[in-house]
Amino acid sequence: MRLLIMGPQGVGKGTQAALLAEHYGIPTISTGDIFRYNIKNKTELGLEAMSYTDKGELVPDSLTNKIVKDRLAKEDCANGWILDGYPRNASQVEALDEMLAELDTKLDHVVALEAGRDVLLERMKKRAAEQGRADDTPEAIAKRLETYEKETAPLLDTYKSRGLLVAVNGVGEIDEISKTIIAALG
Ligand code: AMP
Repeated sequence: MRLLIMGPQGVGKGTQAALLAEHYGIPTISTGDIFRYNIKNKTELGLEAMSYTDKGELVPDSLTNKIVKDRLAKEDCANGWILDGYPRNASQVEALDEMLAELDTKLDHVVALEAGRDVLLERMKKRAAEQGRADDTPEAIAKRLETYEKETAPLLDTYKSRGLLVAVNGVGEIDEISKTIIAALG
């Protein structure tokens, strides 16, 4: 199973990706987690990414595409994966298409989690208080939502026109949402 999980910040992508990964026995690849790991360990990649993540801006495609390409080539990805937080703009969709063609494989589904703006902002406020992520400042949160609406949300139409989109309501009990997604994926 090769899946994308898409949706705005705070919709529960990470939580649902973890449950799907467990259900299908495949790894989750979260570009946000990869950046955070590198920032924490002060690697070259981390130092470069930090100036963007702190402001809630997208890290340049050249860096982001490369980390995904390297990760998809790893052995544990041979039988499937879930990409969480990638692609986030049209150029990343193109880059992913090329990677998949090179690997002679294709996407099975794109899961889009949905929730209203009020729910998202409330969840983000809670996460900021609980986790203290460096990029959960009010300015960065607002910037990420704006970037999502402008650059990422239009990609849902791209995947819809390819017949890959599975839209699921992201508001409700975590387990119920997970069951709904799995049922929809067949
Ligand atoms: P996330 O945890 O998915 O919200 O990602 C945290 C931050 O990492 C984002 O605000 C971006 O700065 C960066 N990031 C994660 N994924 C991507 C991506 N696909 N393209 C560019 N930047 C990304």
